[in-house]
Amino acid sequence: MTDLPTLSSFRRIVIKVGSALLVDRERSRLKHAWLASLAEDIAELRGRGVEVLVVSSGAIALGRTVLGLAAGDLKLEESQAAAAVGQIALARSWAEALSHHGLTAGQILVTLDDTEQRRRYLNARATILKLLELNAVPVVNENDTVATSEIRYGDNDRLAARVASMIGADLLVLFSDIDGLYTAPPAANPDARHLPVVEQVTPEIEAMAGGAASELSRGGMKTKIEAAKIAAGGGAHMLIARGEVKNPLRAIAAGARCTWFLTPATPASARKAWIGGSLEPRGTLVVDQGAVTALRKGKSLLPAGVTAVSGAFRRGDAVIVAGPDGREIGRGLAAYDAEDAARIKGRSSGDIPAILGFEGRAAMIHRDDLVLGAAPKA
Ligand code: GLU
Repeated sequence: MTDLPTLSSFRRIVIKVGSALLVDRERSRLKHAWLASLAEDIAELRGRGVEVLVVSSGAIALGRTVLGLAAGDLKLEESQAAAAVGQIALARSWAEALSHHGLTAGQILVTLDDTEQRRRYLNARATILKLLELNAVPVVNENDTVATSEIRYGDNDRLAARVASMIGADLLVLFSDIDGLYTAPPAANPDARHLPVVEQVTPEIEAMAGGAASELSRGGMKTKIEAAKIAAGGGAHMLIARGEVKNPLRAIAAGARCTWFLTPATPASARKAWIGGSLEPRGTLVVDQGAVTALRKGKSLLPAGVTAVSGAFRRGDAVIVAGPDGREIGRGLAAYDAEDAARIKGRSSGDIPAILGFEGRAAMIHRDDLVLGAAPKA
């Protein structure tokens, strides 16, 4: 059998916590003691230099009782109203729980567009990475109050997987009320067998998921399998584990039963493949020899090194980077629209506000958004 990874081998982990874990069904109250134990686990990881981001559900479950909404399915506006109320309590509880360990929480509410539209995606990514760099723990949820049915995830499993690939996490942990994937939904099938590892999500694996979800959470095993596919595409392994126990991360490290979904990719290789291979370039930036040398050393592309701009690209679009001889040396995501890029080319980054009238990014292409030599030679 494949050697399974250990928790301690990961550098950037996204932890998804479902409503059923965080909210007490009977009293519709937040389970503070459990949250405190998870915060303790997170602090332990942070103490070892691991970056942690939380995707937390629970806004709707918390808000619905406060508003006196009856049990059962909510109408869209009702869940939006419930989320508006519950999100305040949810974020405050996370901030308090983390603060006991000297950790700062930063709330990020995203919509489907924020993760699917490249331009907005880059903004959300930059904010989250900055929070991590500043040692904060980002706590993410869907912005349910404004997300209508056609434009929302609705479940935090897939949202968490998108966030994981967006920020280049190497592990996504889905804490659930079940300890992993079974050959069939175990509640209805006493013979269902637990799978400790899934090397690849095949149609057979998908068929095992069934559709069941618990009363408080929206996603069942189906959305978790979808999440596994998204995470794998982004170069992150994924883990489904039972979250109900106190100190659930410690429990995984101690060998609690769970299901690993593995990927052969890494966040870096997945991002390279995405930028270098699957995006259609919309323009070209020609750079001088000094810039070529700097880029080869792993630096970002600054406007000063750009000598010519062509094409009609928008911020976030893929562009070709060509050397002084016009030959492609790489591809990257432009931090400026073509018109603005043309206005700041050859200029120092400090002049950008004066030229454009707004404070843009210092780099024309950030080094994380740049892939050298990955594209086929022209
Ligand atoms: N965003 C929803 C909430 O916070 C939860 C979605 C889910 O259960 O996955 O209530």
